[in-house]
Amino acid sequence: MNTNEIWVFGDYRNYFQNRVTLQILGRATDLARKTDAVVCAVVFGHQVDEYVREYVAHGARKVYVVDHPDLMEYSVEGYAHLLVGLVRNHNPGTILVGATRFGQEFTPRVAKMLNTGLTADCIDLSIDDKGRLVQIAPSFGGNLIARIITPQHRPQMATIRPGTFHELPHDDHAVGDIISIPMPQDMPPKRVRMVSSEYRPAGKQRIEDADIVICGGRGMGSKGKFKKLFELARLMNAEVGATRPVVYANWIGHDALVGQAGKNIKPKVLLSFGISGAIQHTSALSDAQFIVAVNKNPNATMMKMADVAIVADANQACLGIIKAIRQKLNLDPAQTEESE
Ligand SMILES: Cc1cc2nc3c(=O)[nH]c(=O)nc-3n(C[C@H](O)[C@H](O)[C@H](O)COP(=O)(O)OP(=O)(O)OC[C@H]3O[C@@H](n4cnc5c(N)ncnc54)[C@H](O)[C@@H]3O)c2cc1C
Repeated sequence: MNTNEIWVFGDYRNYFQNRVTLQILGRATDLARKTDAVVCAVVFGHQVDEYVREYVAHGARKVYVVDHPDLMEYSVEGYAHLLVGLVRNHNPGTILVGATRFGQEFTPRVAKMLNTGLTADCIDLSIDDKGRLVQIAPSFGGNLIARIITPQHRPQMATIRPGTFHELPHDDHAVGDIISIPMPQDMPPKRVRMVSSEYRPAGKQRIEDADIVICGGRGMGSKGKFKKLFELARLMNAEVGATRPVVYANWIGHDALVGQAGKNIKPKVLLSFGISGAIQHTSALSDAQFIVAVNKNPNATMMKMADVAIVADANQACLGIIKAIRQKLNLDPAQTEESE
């Protein structure tokens, strides 16, 4: 018999940069209201009290914790084994996991071991009239948005892309039950040993959290010309994002990829330069509040979805904005770099 619990897997690596667990707890709280479910977090690790408290403060009403020195490092096999054991004992109705690199590797194993379905990389979640989880995800190369349910098997499982949902405000007075689970005796042997790990931020702030994002596409023309966007970003305190061709051409790192295969963004202002507006890119922009697009083609999809569409050469427009800002800031406009 499945319990009416929604489990959110606690992915706390790089905690201060990685907010995906808190974001999922936020949406799980909405879903739980509609189904009278209990939002639970599941935390594996060592000396994880701080994260447990954070999850309670952000919406978890119950936290299942396995705390053991052997769990200090993430191990896909060990964590999958632990979660499967826990699910078999407690029968949650739903499990939600961040679609981080770890979540993308770990969650399919868990779904397979539990013989249930999994929808990867959801961009939204809702509840249907039978109380089932509707898992909304891009499909067929992003050309369709699929609404997927798991009619028979349980738990219902989904991974959710970072930046998709909003976290609830931190509530210091929130109360949650902490369920301590002993480490099982039958853990699988570790086949991988972590030698070291470090977080490498792409910029000052994460693109998912930035109020101003400047996105560049193939229409910027070359790596050298694309660099102008970094100068503009510095002047506007913005982050730079990119389309897939740009990332594949190595004009910028993969962390900047905006779209189905990358990040969802929710800036107050999005400046888009030389981007056609393929669905795989625009599906990640639905929360952008105000869009300015520059493209030499007025009929490009990106221009049609923009609040302000400027028909111009992307490089010239970028350079013009840089000069105007430098002038406004009393900086020497002549110092703006021309690139090849
Ligand atoms: C499974 C799958 C997943 C994908 N995931 C992603 C993803 O996550 N993110 C993503 O972005 N894409 C993704 N794609 C690729 C996507 O389909 C598009 O190919 C891509 O978004 C196009 O990038 P673009 O707009 O930079 O290039 P193009 O489509 O080539 O557009 C370039 C634009 O620049 C304009 N332009 C050209 N020169 C100038 C100039 N001098 N001045 C002004 N404008 C100019 C052109 O008019 C055109 O509109 C995915 C594709 C698949 C199949």
